[in-house]
Amino acid sequence: MAKSVKDRCSFCGRDASQVSLLIAGVNGFICGDCARSAYDIVCNDAGNKTMEGRPTYTTDFTEVPKPKEIKAFLDQYVIGQDDAKKCLSVAVYNHYKRLSQGRTSQADDVEIEKSNIIMAGSTGTGKTLLARTIAKLIGVPFTIVDATVFTEAGYVGEDIESILTRLLQAADYDQKAAECGIVFIDEIDKIARKSDNPSITRDVSGEGVQQGLLKMLEGSVVNVPPKGGRKHPDQEYIHMDTSNILFICGGAFDGIERKIAQRMNAHVVGYNSVQHVMRIDKNNLMKYIMPQDLKSYGLIPEIIGRLPVLTYLNPLDKAALRRILMEPKNSIIRQYQKIMQMDGVKMEVTDEALDFIVDKAEEYKLGARGLRSIVENILRDALFEIPSSHKQVFRLTADYAREHLDENMSLTA
Ligand code: ADP
Repeated sequence: MAKSVKDRCSFCGRDASQVSLLIAGVNGFICGDCARSAYDIVCNDAGNKTMEGRPTYTTDFTEVPKPKEIKAFLDQYVIGQDDAKKCLSVAVYNHYKRLSQGRTSQADDVEIEKSNIIMAGSTGTGKTLLARTIAKLIGVPFTIVDATVFTEAGYVGEDIESILTRLLQAADYDQKAAECGIVFIDEIDKIARKSDNPSITRDVSGEGVQQGLLKMLEGSVVNVPPKGGRKHPDQEYIHMDTSNILFICGGAFDGIERKIAQRMNAHVVGYNSVQHVMRIDKNNLMKYIMPQDLKSYGLIPEIIGRLPVLTYLNPLDKAALRRILMEPKNSIIRQYQKIMQMDGVKMEVTDEALDFIVDKAEEYKLGARGLRSIVENILRDALFEIPSSHKQVFRLTADYAREHLDENMSLTA
């Protein structure tokens, strides 16, 4: 539309001759100054953030991937752990279906309840990776919090509400998106009550935090300090509804196998059970985990009730560690291959070198978590020299790995 003197900014009323820029809309105009002010208002409303680089999160869940599709996506990033993947895929699918149900009016009275998840498995077996990968697939804000930093209100440590502050920050202060996000609470086992008998030795810290978590897990409106902590006492609270937030808890539950074994022994009596005993995989009792084992371990029944989906992760054997090195879409080896490729160098890895790395990870008891530091350590010299060399191929052999691995690593393990 051509600018004439009759044209005026619909916001400040100045005409075209008084402003440098006048943008035409369908039924009016906006001048450059008002457009700038409007932009600032929008940014301030979103928590003093700029609009650039803002991730877009979805709040429309009508097209949620089916459980099989979710599992197939997880398979690209996470090795093994089929039971956990299936369990998570179903729980996440139902959770977001439930959300889409809430938004379309339903004729019947059936209301799907929320299904938060708890995963038990040794450290470094992929619990966080699973939760993070699912959040990536669904396109919702995701945050990881460590249960051990929380204390009851009034004690030194972080308040439980700060979980939601972090989710809000992860969502770039888009409250609607945050209210459909995923929170991964790590080390949930560390806030277990130390004794199974609540009346005699009450472990106040652990149980207090569990009590604090209850309302949040269940779904309620929580007053959240948007900047977190107690450093900004004058900030206005945001009222966040947690009923659509999916909570995934993870914990190693060291020693829970004993509780599982005790329970199974107690149940396994009589003639029929003899055959049953034969089929028990004694090397991986975790796969028989039941909610009552979590109770024996020290989680309060109310918490267990609010984490209805219970699944487990298998310990990673050598074969799994080897696959983790090579197979996932962004596997450790692939990442280093890409780094070298950027310098025009092709990195080849022999089978023996992979075996050596896996053996060291086992020897140092670092599991999957240690694979990266071992590879990094071995490749340090190569990564230093290759960018200035004229090499076209770099071959990582077992001998090279043995020569270049700093044996002091074992001291840090
Ligand atoms: P956890 O939360 O169980 O302690 P993580 O998910 O943080 O363990 O795993 C640590 C790292 O180890 C991950 O970033 C990933 O690189 C690797 N890892 C662990 N388990 C697997 C797995 N099953 N598949 C692929 N990578 C894995």
